[in-house]
Amino acid sequence: MFRIGHGYDVHRLTENRKLILGGVDIPHDKGLLGHSDADVLVHAIMDSILGALALGDIGHLFPDNDDNYKNADSIKLLEKVCQVMENNGYKIGNIDSTVIAQKPKLAPYIIKMRENIAEACKCDISQISVKATTEEKLGFTGEMLGISAHAVSLLVKI
Ligand code: ZN
Repeated sequence: MFRIGHGYDVHRLTENRKLILGGVDIPHDKGLLGHSDADVLVHAIMDSILGALALGDIGHLFPDNDDNYKNADSIKLLEKVCQVMENNGYKIGNIDSTVIAQKPKLAPYIIKMRENIAEACKCDISQISVKATTEEKLGFTGEMLGISAHAVSLLVKI
């Protein structure tokens, strides 16, 4: 009836890259490095959905040596993951996620992130939770070397 999955991802912060989180282009002096748009939040969410289905991770589905996924819009990849989920007979029950970033302040962008994710997952915004926290200037997120994200997804049989 139900399946639960967890996802975790980290990307390095670097100059001359956009900061895309939850499909929102956020003004900041640094962005996340990666083969795709490096949307660490959406990557953690995709891994949580694939984890719930025991289908491995996004590296398996979208290999980073595949030029099709160079600078890919991760929200589009999430749509594909949700298609795989549907093909396996499941829909989203709810998703809870946390972005860990020292800077910038993410509160103004949370609603738009939830909207983007809900649209890609074909569910209601009330089923998608996005939270943001800092690690009190400790560790790699605190030192602004990178941003990490955690997600858990509960899937319900269609
Ligand atoms: Zn990633």
